[in-house]
Amino acid sequence: MDLKHRLLRETFGYTEFRPGQQKLIDAMLSGRDVLGVMPTGAGKSICYQMSAMLLPGVTLVISPLISLMQDQVAALQRIGISACLLNSAQTLQERQSAMRLASSGRCKLIYIAPERLLAPEFGDLMTYLPISMVAVDEAHCISQWGHDFRPSYRKIPQFLQSLPKRPIVSAFTATATAQVREDIVRALHLQSPERLVTSFDRPNLHYEVRRVYDREAQLLRFIQKQGNVSGIVYCLTRKKTEEMARYLCDNDIHAVAYHAGMESMVRRAVQQRFVSGNVPVIVATNAFGMGIDKSDVRFVVHFGMPRDIESYYQEAGRAGRDGALAHCLLLFDEKDIDFHEYLIRQDPENPALTEEEVEWLRKKNMTRLREIKRYVFTDGCLRQYILQYFGQTAPDFCGQCGNCEASSMEKDVTTAAQKLLSCVYRVREQCNADMLCRILLGEKERDIVEAGYAAVSTFGIMKDSTQKEIMTILQHLVSFGYLVQQDNPYPRLCLSAKAKPVLFHGEKVAIRIRVSPQEARLARQSNSSENPDLSKELREYRKRAATLRGVPAFVVFSDRTLEELVKNLPQNEIQLAGILRKREQLNERNQKKILEIIRKYIDC
Ligand code: ADP
Ligand code: ZN
Repeated sequence: MDLKHRLLRETFGYTEFRPGQQKLIDAMLSGRDVLGVMPTGAGKSICYQMSAMLLPGVTLVISPLISLMQDQVAALQRIGISACLLNSAQTLQERQSAMRLASSGRCKLIYIAPERLLAPEFGDLMTYLPISMVAVDEAHCISQWGHDFRPSYRKIPQFLQSLPKRPIVSAFTATATAQVREDIVRALHLQSPERLVTSFDRPNLHYEVRRVYDREAQLLRFIQKQGNVSGIVYCLTRKKTEEMARYLCDNDIHAVAYHAGMESMVRRAVQQRFVSGNVPVIVATNAFGMGIDKSDVRFVVHFGMPRDIESYYQEAGRAGRDGALAHCLLLFDEKDIDFHEYLIRQDPENPALTEEEVEWLRKKNMTRLREIKRYVFTDGCLRQYILQYFGQTAPDFCGQCGNCEASSMEKDVTTAAQKLLSCVYRVREQCNADMLCRILLGEKERDIVEAGYAAVSTFGIMKDSTQKEIMTILQHLVSFGYLVQQDNPYPRLCLSAKAKPVLFHGEKVAIRIRVSPQEARLARQSNSSENPDLSKELREYRKRAATLRGVPAFVVFSDRTLEELVKNLPQNEIQLAGILRKREQLNERNQKKILEIIRKYIDC
């Protein structure tokens, strides 16, 4: 085992590198600059931490967030790596003791906030400490075209130039479009860096956008439906976080607010309660989240449209770090657009920008806003939209985002799956997908006959299907783990433990197939009409309305109307009017209420 793997196992406690980590570490160890673009949670920190341990001398880590640095330094110290940090929040005493530790040369990693880089006492230290590498975390903060520009990051190039010897410069970011990537390389003067961009796809995240009609109630229902799990609700303003946390608590959901206006002690405590699982739901502004290491966040709701796709991807990406299914819901109101436009037109907080730069920034932000506007309005696959935004290609149907679900329906393919799986069994797991397909279709080709497969009982058992149909189900069986691909001694498909219940106990297999939105709606409606709750709720409403008016229930609306409401699920006044009978004169408020009740059953 090489040194890297030993360190990974013995010091960090992991068995394997994640995609991209090794390549980046190798590049740094060979003295090259790197630009690592990996989604949040992919494991960027280990890359520079391990390189720091294997390089001679000291590595400086520049990071924008004090709490993040504190956590990382504490974690490193726990596993026996000597690290310290310097930031402006330290007391003089703390800083002096950190400086002593740093200047002793015993620290492999020194974490430093960008605004401290040009402090005179630090400059002195830099003249004699052997700095091998400067690692810039959250490197997109240097780009003023990025979504999180921090002026203090502009000090980095100047600082690098002030060093007696140019160190290796490594830059890491979770979110960068091609343009921001170029900007990072240029601004940090990276020298032919190793660029590594890992996939931005998060297959376990279920993206969904919903237009709002009653945002509070929609949020509440969504959270109730998730059960007792951890989740984050992002709001656009501080005030809203407090309002919504209160609202959720009033409705028996244990939630706390978090925003930058709160005292830092309180904030830390709130964060801690969420991370430890004491409080399941945190209602926060975008000030929350960077550096939070909580893997079992099961949902992220945006109570309002974020300002751009980068922010959205990063915030939503805090769900499902453990790889299990997690929901990312964006509740969007057209007023959110006005809100962001208003903010963009405001004077910038940063007085250092020239008039020209301010104009540029405004234009840039408007463009970004347009991109997320397109996201919330698109009928297409949401996953594809996000991936394409980050410069990746993706199929136009993922089958598991809100939009794909709205244009598809579940189809029971248990019988076909059984045929397929038993064929794999009959050919003793010796065939690849293509051959299996031909056997099932009953094609008497030479290779099939010679191998004796024309004589197995499943030969031709699916001759009424098309090749495409068989392949679709086959792919589904592979991606959902009923079949596993083996490459030894040649590519072939084998049965997994998951296949057994399907083969022998009739466990159902369903796949999502694409249909027209109308067909999908019909399929959903037929599911909903089996739902007795809607019927019950409408009946209860009818009773209340009748009592109020002092009339019998059927005068409000008849049983037949009720049945039709449940069956057809009208979504607006016109559709509703088509169902109500002549005698049933419901006023506007009654109608609105009925539509509201029905909507609950359409959305969830
Ligand atoms: P990022 O900085 O990219 O958001 P982190 O470096 O904080 O991500 O890593 C996210 C999580 O993944 C951490 O809990 C980290 O310990 C874990 N991790 C990193 N590398 C590996 C690995 N090779 N195997 C298993 N877990 C890893
Ligand atoms: Zn999709």
